[in-house]
Amino acid sequence: MANVTLTDVSKRFAETTALDTVSLEIEDGEFFTLVGPSGCGKTTTLRTIAGFETPTEGTVAFDSEDVAGVPVEERDVGIVFQNYALFPHMTVAENVAYSLRFRDAPGGATKDERVTELLELVDLAGMGDRDPSELSGGQQQRVALARSLAPGPSLLLLDEPMSALDARLRETLRRQVKRIQQELDITTIYVTHDQEEALSISDRLAVMHNGRVEQVGTPREVYRTPDTRFVAEFIGDNNVLTGTITDRDDASGNATIEVDDHALTLADVGDRTVGDTVTFCVRPEALSQTATENRFTMTVETAEFLGETTRIYGRWNDRQIVVRLDDVPDRETIELGFSPDAATILEP
Ligand code: ATP
Repeated sequence: MANVTLTDVSKRFAETTALDTVSLEIEDGEFFTLVGPSGCGKTTTLRTIAGFETPTEGTVAFDSEDVAGVPVEERDVGIVFQNYALFPHMTVAENVAYSLRFRDAPGGATKDERVTELLELVDLAGMGDRDPSELSGGQQQRVALARSLAPGPSLLLLDEPMSALDARLRETLRRQVKRIQQELDITTIYVTHDQEEALSISDRLAVMHNGRVEQVGTPREVYRTPDTRFVAEFIGDNNVLTGTITDRDDASGNATIEVDDHALTLADVGDRTVGDTVTFCVRPEALSQTATENRFTMTVETAEFLGETTRIYGRWNDRQIVVRLDDVPDRETIELGFSPDAATILEP
């Protein structure tokens, strides 16, 4: 097991700042995800932790030991990349054993015993004699995972390991990866651009944007209380609104916010005062037709029937609004409202 600490890590490639003062603390045994749009610096962060990149500034430490100067092969990390790159001329078992060619298997096991154990762990028992070409994409990726785990690393780094797979296979594989991670209790850092995957698989996640970490938290914290507009809009659907405080009750912290001549009530605006501009978000599922407060009329534009819910896009004045209801509405306009404490105030 290992904990990993990044302190003010910046990485520049010529004109590009890939990482800008990134600080993270990843705990022993944690499943930690780096999530964000293409180019935000996820892979560079992972490669810096692995030792493939050297930070321009800042430090990376494993268990409080600075690992500057420690080469990749001595960092005790298992790595799985997006393109699983198994050796096609080797069997599945030989692929898994490949990472043991310069190392002993942990716990005094023979190589064969270790390979058998790993193939069982990744649900591929009995498939050791097959060629990689005889396996599905998901199975191949599990062989790559077994190969990276064979030496018993303290840290597992996964860079978009499921992005080449179709959606259903990704869901199955992510449950398997999570189970394996929990069984081994191995510190895991996972990179994805898929926010749903990040929410479903992680103990905690860091949302990255333009080389910076915007927010770190549990999936619930990041979803329910995003700090910034970027996080609010990147993680899940959201309605982001801006208005001006016109009244404030100091005892409760409740405030009236004017949005296009429409008075809305928000709970707890912190130390913001009358005249301040406030940006806040309300999740689609927090809007309802039965809420008695903060009511407004939405003009329905499109509806996506998703089975267990329906996502409806519409307009309130010139704003796009998204709401989740049980079914497609049979009218062109619907009345919606939300509770004052359903809104989250965002940093400007
Ligand atoms: P993706 O999801 O597309 O893989 P990412 O979030 O992993 O994106 P990085 O690959 O870390 O992003 O890239 C961050 C920024 O650094 C990008 O602007 C990228 O073009 C740049 N970059 C990364 N590696 C290099 C390199 N070796 N040389 C020059 N620029 C680089």
